Amino acid sequence: SRSDVHNFAAGPSPLPTPVLEEAAKGLLNYKGTGMGICELSHRSKEFEAIIFGAEANLRKLLSIPDNYSVLFAQGGATTQFSSTLLNILAYRRMQHKADTSYTPPPVDYVVTGTWSAKAHQEAQRLCMPPQPGAEPLAHPRIAATTKPTKYTTLPKADEYSFSPDAAMVYYCENETINGIEYPLDQSSPCAFPYDKIPEGVPLVGDYSSSFISRPIPHLERHAVIHAGVQKNLGPAGVTVIIVRNDYLVDTTEAMKLGGIPPVPIQNEYKILADNQSLYNTPPVFAIYVSALVLEYLLAKGGIENLEKTNREKARVLYETLEKAEAAGTVRMVVREKDARSWMNVVWEQVGEGANEKFLKGADGKGFRQLKGHRSVGGIRASLYNAVTVESVQGLSEYIDGFSA
Ligand code: PMP
Repeated sequence: SRSDVHNFAAGPSPLPTPVLEEAAKGLLNYKGTGMGICELSHRSKEFEAIIFGAEANLRKLLSIPDNYSVLFAQGGATTQFSSTLLNILAYRRMQHKADTSYTPPPVDYVVTGTWSAKAHQEAQRLCMPPQPGAEPLAHPRIAATTKPTKYTTLPKADEYSFSPDAAMVYYCENETINGIEYPLDQSSPCAFPYDKIPEGVPLVGDYSSSFISRPIPHLERHAVIHAGVQKNLGPAGVTVIIVRNDYLVDTTEAMKLGGIPPVPIQNEYKILADNQSLYNTPPVFAIYVSALVLEYLLAKGGIENLEKTNREKARVLYETLEKAEAAGTVRMVVREKDARSWMNVVWEQVGEGANEKFLKGADGKGFRQLKGHRSVGGIRASLYNAVTVESVQGLSEYIDGFSA
């Protein structure tokens, strides 16, 4: 049963049991209507109350200022690799409306792991010249990268080189596969260099795997924050976008000016905002469960409580692993302590076949979905919001007692 299992999945990930119990009821008979939530119109008063309530609760949880829109989109965070670029390029074009000699701008990517590398690759693909010999649509650059360390560190302030004229700066706050996260402590040498980003250049952050695990530093410095919800917030199928209202641009108008690519209507932030995320049928079930999770988290004490609990879970597990590393049974993958993720903890057990033996033994004790991503191997424990301190303590005891 659920109570015998400690689920450390990287995403889709565990959800709070009381929320799933409530959702199971709503799936069959939503609030006594005799109809399940997936059987009600997305334009019904019942669903409107859910989606607008979810937005209000998310605003409360993260203290999102009024000059930002909160959007619920489909297509996963991967779709946002394209949408962020396309909307920001349209914004850039509108800023240069009167400019008859508009030139393709640089677009700066900070590449600190698999997901930011993918966002950069998508930019390269979308910016290719529309026909041979034509100009590219923009020039994607790498403003900093830790590829040489195989993404086991974070760049230091003097290793970033932003173009003063960039159309945007893009980064990923938590690299789910590599276990790398920007530290909350802004005085750390690994901290994200918000103050080095040239004034007026839009900042875009992928918060998929750290969303609502703790406060977002410098939220107001961002143009766009996007996050697939399937880690900390709900079932896969919906992506949250927090966008400052001046970046909501009519991409058709921008396209008419020339120099920017067509933007499929589903990718346009303005159309989503103008229609309160109900331009077309949204993923109703994913939004419903996310709304229940938000209510549940607010009732449990909001973002301060989440930060406190998540800090504690990470402390317990890293202390255990560091002790095991000193004893020679574990090798930590992320070399810099300040770069270690609170959400995705990655390591290797030392010795021939030790990882497999560790995973097999863990499975027998109910510690599930600990296998590292197929691209990197090893072990990964994801400590999202629904993972309890007790589960982490249990896993730590197992690590303590494990010998290959
Ligand atoms: N960014 C990050 C940080 C992720 O962890 C993921 C998925 N694990 C993605 C983007 C891609 O998200 P999706 O699968 O929802 O497209």
